[in-house]
Amino acid sequence: MTYHRSGRLVGVIAAAVLVLPAAAACRAGSTPAAKASSAHGRLYAMSRALRIGVKNDQPGLSLADPTGTEYTGLDIDIAGAVATALHDKPVFQALVSNTRESMLLSGAVDLVVASYSISEERLKVIDFAGPYLIAGQAILVRADDKSIIGVDSLKDKITCGTVGSNSPARLAVKFGGSEDAKNPWGRTHLRLDAGYSECLQDLLNKKADAVSTDDSILAGYANSPKYRGRVRLLPERFTTHREYYGIGIAKGDHADIALINATLRQMIKDGRWEKIVRKNLGATAQQFLRPESRPSPPS
Ligand code: GLU
Repeated sequence: MTYHRSGRLVGVIAAAVLVLPAAAACRAGSTPAAKASSAHGRLYAMSRALRIGVKNDQPGLSLADPTGTEYTGLDIDIAGAVATALHDKPVFQALVSNTRESMLLSGAVDLVVASYSISEERLKVIDFAGPYLIAGQAILVRADDKSIIGVDSLKDKITCGTVGSNSPARLAVKFGGSEDAKNPWGRTHLRLDAGYSECLQDLLNKKADAVSTDDSILAGYANSPKYRGRVRLLPERFTTHREYYGIGIAKGDHADIALINATLRQMIKDGRWEKIVRKNLGATAQQFLRPESRPSPPS
């Protein structure tokens, strides 16, 4: 389609959704006119096009072509399948890590499918359907830099991440001892950009020594024609914490969440999900297909 769990998290995900059986019984393919029903969610019943917020600079996950109209990647394929079941063909709108909540809260987008981890902090203001992918945090370096061999090497280096992402805080906690990404270590050793493509530029221009975020994102850059051979993904996730990718949605939209989760469960069961992972994540797909990495959206 090219158109445009740690134990703690189990509780988080359970809190994220409230399933309404009537909504789960909705069927894909019904016309918008036939959709209006009190059992259906707001998005399902809506007459205008569904607007989905996505990244536009993450190869493998969510990348726009130079004209900014055609999108490809795993997030795009998941968004397309969910939109078909929920409503209709979507209109994609580009966003960055730091604008995901605000664009949902302002109503600028109806859903966010953007390497968006379900977290307690975010659940205070929005809800999530999913998860649809389970990633882990890793490190990307310049191909010829042999001085970084693991996370401990980052203590004295500059690491790039994005504003509004979970990833920089995990390094800040490791080296600075507090949740705040602006702690003393963070002030000196973290570089925060708006998007990951800017981090990649900073890495190649030596304004940063490493980029650290989800391996699903970093693998996409390492495998892309633009960066292949110039950057290198360190082989291991350096933390046991996992990123459960969810679909961001306005708070309280339980019927739409139930239908999205039913759609994702069906896709995982009938092999469509695996196909999407293989098609978009290439050589690194296997990592996300291991039994312990298979997502199981709540029913
Ligand atoms: N999945 C992480 C998050 O949602 C990092 C990736 C990103 O910022 O898009 O914060």
